[in-house]
Amino acid sequence: MYMEAKNVKFTYMVGSPFEKTALQNINLTLEPNSYTVLIGHTGSGKSTLIQLFNGLLKPTDGSIQIGNREIKRDTKQKHLYDVRKDVGMVFQYPEHQLFHETILKDVAFGPMNFGMSQEEAEKRAKESLKLVGIEEGLYERSPFDLSGGQMRRVAIAGVLASNPKTLILDEPTAGLDPQGKEDIMELFYKWYEVSEERSIILVTHHMEDAAKYGDQLIVLEQGGIHLTGTPKEVFLQGDRLRKTGLSQPETVRLLESLKDKSKGHIDTLKFHLNET
Ligand code: ADP
Repeated sequence: MYMEAKNVKFTYMVGSPFEKTALQNINLTLEPNSYTVLIGHTGSGKSTLIQLFNGLLKPTDGSIQIGNREIKRDTKQKHLYDVRKDVGMVFQYPEHQLFHETILKDVAFGPMNFGMSQEEAEKRAKESLKLVGIEEGLYERSPFDLSGGQMRRVAIAGVLASNPKTLILDEPTAGLDPQGKEDIMELFYKWYEVSEERSIILVTHHMEDAAKYGDQLIVLEQGGIHLTGTPKEVFLQGDRLRKTGLSQPETVRLLESLKDKSKGHIDTLKFHLNET
């Protein structure tokens, strides 16, 4: 789904003594069927930007285009709700939001909330649970009986079940072990590459994931866009990146030796930041 930010500014608590401009002069285009990675220090504006892209926040100035909808300062709440059907959000530690008595009910909750019948929602829920690798024998169990990694998968299935066109992932692997991290990242990629309708926006501190999966990297700094381009273009500007504390010399060297990323060839992009 095409998404764009046009001259976006966002200020928290306008008119109060705590007024804080979190983003300004943001101009960005997210092409349909693209994998965008947002990087930047804490406080650089990443969460604010993703909340603008899923209709949780409205810009103070400028506009956000999401598919054929435009969100401005005065956009009505109902239109923001419509946007949320198309843009799914996996928050950090999404398993903290599980609450139903069974796994199946939990996963079906999202689509039902968006107006789907129970039958249809459960069908979608089962498809999503299969995709994230939760066995059928567990569907009637409580999500709280599961391991941490499995709970995360159930929570992710809950977002996928609503059939979003764009998926926003905010540090989705936080707290998982290395294998669990890789499995979850691959799962999202699998979801993404199945259909040309789908896009991903990933917020991460993992440069290897940024390079491996991203078509486009956006580096935010103090509420503005510091750098943007393909992973190769961005990492090759290592000097500017290092100033933000985000890169290491070997990243630059490794990226220089990499082929251009193309879908289906992501294995060629596997590398490790700290190996020389
Ligand atoms: P990041 O996700 O990159 O850590 P944020 O978007 O959370 O950055 O924050 C950007 C800026 O906005 C920071 O200076 C932060 O302190 C401020 N901020 C974030 N949320 C709020 C809020 N609810 N009220 C006031 N200021 C906020």
